[in-house]
Amino acid sequence: MKNYDVIICGAGPSGATSAKFISERGYKVALLDKASFPRNKLCGGALRLSVDQFEYIMKGMGNISLTNCFEVKMHSPSLKYIADFKSSSPVIYHIKRLEFDLMLVNMAVDAGVDFLENHFVEKVSISRHKSSVFLKNGEELYSKLIIGAGGMYDPVLSYLRKKQGLQLYYKKSEIAYMMMQEYPVSMDFILDVFGEQKTSHMFLKPGGVYGYGWLFPKDTVLNVGIGALWTDIKMVEKHEIFNLYLKLLKKQGLFPNNCNLGQIEVTLLPLSGPIRKTYAERAIIVGDAAGFISPLSGEGLYYAISSGKFAAETVIDALKKERFTEKNLSIYQSKWQNEWGFEIALLKFFTMNFHNQVERFLKYVSLDEKLKSNLMDIYTGRKNSSEILWKMAPRILMDFLRFESLK
Ligand SMILES: Cc1cc2nc3c(=O)[nH]c(=O)nc-3n(C[C@H](O)[C@H](O)[C@H](O)COP(=O)(O)OP(=O)(O)OC[C@H]3O[C@@H](n4cnc5c(N)ncnc54)[C@H](O)[C@@H]3O)c2cc1C
Repeated sequence: MKNYDVIICGAGPSGATSAKFISERGYKVALLDKASFPRNKLCGGALRLSVDQFEYIMKGMGNISLTNCFEVKMHSPSLKYIADFKSSSPVIYHIKRLEFDLMLVNMAVDAGVDFLENHFVEKVSISRHKSSVFLKNGEELYSKLIIGAGGMYDPVLSYLRKKQGLQLYYKKSEIAYMMMQEYPVSMDFILDVFGEQKTSHMFLKPGGVYGYGWLFPKDTVLNVGIGALWTDIKMVEKHEIFNLYLKLLKKQGLFPNNCNLGQIEVTLLPLSGPIRKTYAERAIIVGDAAGFISPLSGEGLYYAISSGKFAAETVIDALKKERFTEKNLSIYQSKWQNEWGFEIALLKFFTMNFHNQVERFLKYVSLDEKLKSNLMDIYTGRKNSSEILWKMAPRILMDFLRFESLK
């Protein structure tokens, strides 16, 4: 029976970030994960530029393989329109999750965290006096506070939902079905086809399903995937749609002709936006577990890291004051809401209301440099997305009048 100040369930980017910052202040932290590290995580590995506000991340990235991508091409469903975002400086970073997540866990360990890999959290429980974690191996751990960082099926989130009488799982209409595969290719292929600028591609509504396909070239791998609404994808066979997508990439000369489908991997991702309450007495929920994922793109790495840091600041303050009440921990929710809560809400509104208009939208973006630059700012995360989205609305209306009357 071990006692900690804080126990963190899940050692992905959100959990490892919280662990590092809390431990640096001298508190006793256990970071638990069911996997053994390095562990892979299905992901495109696209990291928005605004992560450079986290100094420790930028320092660490010097030691892992990082692909600077200077150009992104977004293709409309009919392939008629292409929005080409390019710059002389990177527009997005591409990392490999196997290395990136290990780097963050190592930083947490260096800060003094007790990292317990291969430790499956079966159940948690929270009383007025402590948080308890029950592991699959029969061990029990105790702490003053607990952080849920276990992604979609986080055990802390499940406990809180049950306690509050809420449904345990998301609605199918709010879940993305994510399929992907990494294909090893030669460095020459990457350079010949994607150039020094490592052009990345995104194809909207591949195979007619609502969502998008991506193709991210890294040093010697092609990261290929499709994210689509679960309710849409169940109508089609997953291998069929992935095969169709590879055929499209081959036709465009972006994928080696002699490379075949292979074993595609599949996972789910909630797109409903943040859960209503991301804190409770002695508990905080971070990253994917809290629903911090862009409903537009499925991007979540930046939010995971940022929420992990906000959680750490809140927890350090609570530990200092020895006050673990809901009221005291509610500051966490204000922090993320002020920083990017509105951004996610707007992205959700935009996604839900305009997903049928992507062809038209891409047409405007490809013809209107200003609109393109607005979209690029959202993609890179360089500027505040909420401000940009407000600016984009009248611009889209203006483009509608300009370009639709040209017929
Ligand atoms: C196919 C796909 C592509 C994506 N592409 C991108 C992208 O290009 N860019 C981007 O920004 N985001 C992308 N995302 C989203 C991104 O992967 C997540 O937002 C990010 O991983 C969230 O980090 P996290 O720390 O919250 O959770 P995770 O990274 O999911 O970490 C959770 C950890 O908790 C552990 N865990 C879970 N349950 C338990 C348990 N019961 N006991 C112990 N441990 C447990 C897991 O083993 C895991 O290590 C993608 C997601 C998918 C599915």
